Amino acid sequence: MPLARAAGAPAPGAIENWRTRLLQGERSLWLVRGDRELRTTYWTPTAGYDGEAYKEICWLLRDVQANKSFAMSPRLLDVLCGLQNWLAFNGHRHPIHVNSGYRTFSTNYRTEGSALSSRHLNGQAADITVPGVQLARVAGMASLFGEGGVGMYLNKGFVHVDTGNERIWIK
Ligand SMILES: [Zn+2]
Repeated sequence: MPLARAAGAPAPGAIENWRTRLLQGERSLWLVRGDRELRTTYWTPTAGYDGEAYKEICWLLRDVQANKSFAMSPRLLDVLCGLQNWLAFNGHRHPIHVNSGYRTFSTNYRTEGSALSSRHLNGQAADITVPGVQLARVAGMASLFGEGGVGMYLNKGFVHVDTGNERIWIK
């Protein structure tokens, strides 16, 4: 029961072990953005990164307003992958819906409420939802990865995850 364990005080290293387990074997992502759906394996233990799959993921996470993609942080992909694996482990086999990924400076500047130094500018952040799963569960799991920011936007109805400094906020 990972959720129950997470709710208590985990032993030192427990989260690290758990995270390693969630990323064991092939790393795949099942993402939806608008009418585009992508299901792909971007990393395997034998061959490492699949360049084509990585590019497809980066394209889905692009700045759609500027129509520009960016070399997204592999660490961000791992956070999304681990989150998706954990949800599947708990019976929620759903795609992650992407509201926003990479943002150019001008798109970020026009985005309401965004920070000027947003991690979206560096390809290190995504705003996501998982249909059928409460925002708090998505945010809670993402925060357990323990090396990045997690913001829960209740009024906008999405969770921001990034690979920057560890912080948690609710808006
Ligand atoms: Zn965001």
